[in-house]
Amino acid sequence: MKRFSEVAIVGGGIIGSAIAYYLAKAGHQVDLLEAGQVGSGSTQAAAGMLGAHSEYKEFGASLYPFARTSQRLYEQAEADIRSLTGIDMERRTGGLLQLVYTEGDTIMSPLASLEGVTWLDRATVLKKVPGLSESVSGAVHMAEDVHVTPAIACKGFHTAARMLGAQTNTYTRVDEIVKESGRYRLRTSKGEWQADRVVVASGVWSNALLQRSGLGMPIFPVKGECIVVTNTQTPLTCSLFHDQHYIVPRNNNELVIGATKVKNDWSTEPTLGGLQTVMEKARKMLPNVDKMPFRRSWAGLRPQTSDGKPLIGEHPEMKGLYIAAGHQRNGILLAPATGKMICDLIGNNVVPEEWKEAFRVDRLNTGEEVLM
Ligand SMILES: Cc1cc2nc3c(=O)[nH]c(=O)nc-3n(C[C@H](O)[C@H](O)[C@H](O)COP(=O)(O)OP(=O)(O)OC[C@H]3O[C@@H](n4cnc5c(N)ncnc54)[C@H](O)[C@@H]3O)c2cc1C
Repeated sequence: MKRFSEVAIVGGGIIGSAIAYYLAKAGHQVDLLEAGQVGSGSTQAAAGMLGAHSEYKEFGASLYPFARTSQRLYEQAEADIRSLTGIDMERRTGGLLQLVYTEGDTIMSPLASLEGVTWLDRATVLKKVPGLSESVSGAVHMAEDVHVTPAIACKGFHTAARMLGAQTNTYTRVDEIVKESGRYRLRTSKGEWQADRVVVASGVWSNALLQRSGLGMPIFPVKGECIVVTNTQTPLTCSLFHDQHYIVPRNNNELVIGATKVKNDWSTEPTLGGLQTVMEKARKMLPNVDKMPFRRSWAGLRPQTSDGKPLIGEHPEMKGLYIAAGHQRNGILLAPATGKMICDLIGNNVVPEEWKEAFRVDRLNTGEEVLM
């Protein structure tokens, strides 16, 4: 078995897979080491919204341009990956409707100047979405907040990376990363590995590897529960969004309804209470959702940081060790920009200074000693 990589990526979720894609495309020799199956972590639990605008309030000035860049990169990546692999990420273009229930709600004011954002009055929105709750007073249409099917998008990045020369090693858990004679040695469940550079992209499970590098435990889980129903009631081409909850139509006529936010809960089974909350929020948007056949439910863990921004960059002291984790509720959206940013950092290409600063990997440092 080959045991040496130029770049070893630890974690095969959407983030690790997108990094592998951009690096392989740029000609780097890449190995992806994944503890289970590719896409089996938080990625498979996501709804798939590329919500650069719907998350605008959360993103603020520093994260919004990065999110928007990622949204635009999807368009190109999706087309390139489809032509290379034949995989269709199911990128649906109806956009997203952020519903407003109170007359005079100020929801629109910070968004008004943004490209692709328009206000729809009550009559227009009720006509656009048959079956929508009569209590809405209007909606903000975010035309470019389209969505993909996350597991397929991840498969697309990963398959394209492989076709461009990346190697994947599934069921290979990395337990330790040690720097030795200018190179990294990785102790894995399948023996030792060496690499010139390592990227930790292990989502909510990254702490175990980051702690030894002196970065502390910056990531914690926020559990999210979702329900899937078959849409037998109303044509729906866009996502509906209100109060951090949503209904997202998939290509197979299913609706993904989500999601709760439970901090520091590592369990991945949905609870009846959680699903009830999700249903109540959905009913407020689309009352007929009650009549739709139930298909399944699930729970996943969002990799959250205390300031709500991901960690993306090189370790300040351990040159050649990169981190790309903590993408909280927007990892699907931010995958292409993260993949390209890590690729540009490794290739010494230009990366905007404000992104390097905003996502600096030691900004949440809790002061532990560097052990690697
Ligand atoms: C209910 C829910 C809804 C969401 N909806 C959206 C949405 O609409 N839009 C959006 O943009 N985002 C959404 N998200 C967030 C998104 O799912 C995550 O931000 C994203 O999946 C994180 O990707 P990742 O690759 O960092 O992590 P993961 O997908 O968890 O991948 C990490 C991988 O690392 C592997 N791993 C861990 N430790 C090791 C190790 N030691 N060695 C080797 N491999 C290891 C794991 O097995 C896993 O496969 C949602 C999340 C949830 C839970």
